This record gives sequence, C-alpha cells and structure tokens, in this order.
Amino acid sequence: MGILNAQHLIKVFGHRLSLTKALNDFSLEVQAGEFVGIMGPSGAGKSTLLNVISTIDRPTSGMVTLLGQDLRKLKGKQLAQFRREKLGFIFQDFNLVDALTVKENIALPLSLNHQPPAQIKQRVQAVSQILGLQELLTYYPLELSVGQRQRIAAARALVTEPAILFADEPTGSLDSRAATDFLQHLQRINQGQISDTAHISTPTTIIMVTHDAFTASFCKRILFIKDGSLFAELIRSSDRQTFFDQIIDMQATIGG
Ligand code: ADP
Ligand code: MG
Repeated sequence: MGILNAQHLIKVFGHRLSLTKALNDFSLEVQAGEFVGIMGPSGAGKSTLLNVISTIDRPTSGMVTLLGQDLRKLKGKQLAQFRREKLGFIFQDFNLVDALTVKENIALPLSLNHQPPAQIKQRVQAVSQILGLQELLTYYPLELSVGQRQRIAAARALVTEPAILFADEPTGSLDSRAATDFLQHLQRINQGQISDTAHISTPTTIIMVTHDAFTASFCKRILFIKDGSLFAELIRSSDRQTFFDQIIDMQATIGG
C-alpha cells in the first residue's frame, strides 16, 4: 500500500438548486518518493482533489488513507497534530508573515510546536542551506523578490521534515527564471539531495497541482483531471523536454 491511497472520491459543493460535482469518483495511489503532478483545465477539480487528499477538506464520500491513517478517523486536535507533524504545504501566494524575519518565518511551525531553541536553530539552518537562503535569514519577506519568498515558504513547509509536501500552483506567481530555480529545488528535495554532492536523509514525496506544462515537466508522473474524473496519466520516461512536449499534447487533447 502506498503513502497515499484515495478511493472513489466524490466532492459536491453547493445546495439543492445549484450543485457542483467537483470530484466524480476519483481514485489514486501514490508511492513514497514520487513527484506527482495534478493537471487539468481551470475548474477541473485540481485544488479540490489536493485539499481532500491533504486533510484541508473532506470528501462528500470516498476514503483517503494518508501515511497509513484513515483520514475519516482524524478529528480536531489529532488532525491538527497530524497535519503539523507529517504534512507540508506550499501555496501560490506564499502566506508569509510580513512582520517576521525570514528566519522567524521558517521557524514558525517549530516554535508554534514549542520545540527546543537549539533544535529549531539546527533545523532552520539545515533547511535554509537546502533552499539557498542562508544569506537572507535576517531580512523581512517584503525586502525580497517573489522567487526568494516562495523559497522561504518552501523552507517553512519543510522545516518539520514532512513525509509529504503538497503544493497548489506554487509557481503561479513566479517568472520563468524564478520558477525554474524553485522547481530545481523541489526536484532535489524529492530526490533527497541538497546539492550535486550532498544528500539529506529522507527523500520527500511531492504532490503538486499546476496548470503550467513547464512546471509539470519536473514531475515524474502526471494525472490529468477533467470534470472531476481521471482523464489520463503520463509517466516521464525520458528527458524533460520530451515530457514537456507530451504534456502540451495532452493539454490540447483534454481541451479547455
Ligand atoms: P481547479 O483547481 O481545477 O481550477 P477547483 O477544484 O478549484 O478547480 O474547482 C472545481 C469546481 O468546484 C469548480 O466548478 C469550482 O467552481 C467548484 N468549487 C470549488 N470550491 C468550491 C466551493 N468552496 N464552493 C462551491 N464551489 C466550489
Ligand atoms: Mg485550483
């Protein structure tokens, strides 16, 4: 059994007179160490799927097992703790605290968890090194570029050493150069690699929503969703450029 197993997910929004079926019998399984992309047209259900498999939202029916845990059985404080300790999240708009320094932003999940200061310092240093942020720790987010801010958000998501990183349109606010840099960092984190020579102990499983073919071409496997159902799946078998071309073709097939 994989790190994530979701079966027959249905998610309905709205009320009697205007119902939207955002997920329509969607199933997926993800193995530890994968870098999975979720693609599809606007309104296809990508964010809904990510939210439902990552504890942010609950399905109307169907079941999700994440890290061996049946999410239906997790509520309240237990759910919050599970999320804090095991999962990492990155969104398009960073959600950094502008009044805190970079270092304080990255440390936030640990300080909220009342971790010992020495351990916080060590973890912040390690993750800053992975994301190339060592020189920026005393700055405030608004003094930095959007690309740097997204790497700070990634550092904050990774500081707890989550087993899975969930990202929804993480390159949506970045220009192509910042996006490339950010995606190369994600790729290294997925591979458990800090630099060409240095390695971190555990590779991180990544599940990323994007509508952008270039961003998706960094994944190893892509699920295409349309009208809340699985439309197609692509597995990367060769170089990134070839995969990119395959993604573009699939986007044309799936249509707007
Ligand atoms: P995507 O991320 O692929 O653009 P979403 O998952 O955000 O799509 O949305 C899928 C469908 O569900 C859309 O029709 C959207 O309008 C609807 N939807 C999403 N969230 C809500 C909500 N909170 N309330 C009502 N409808 C929603
Ligand atoms: Mg979305």
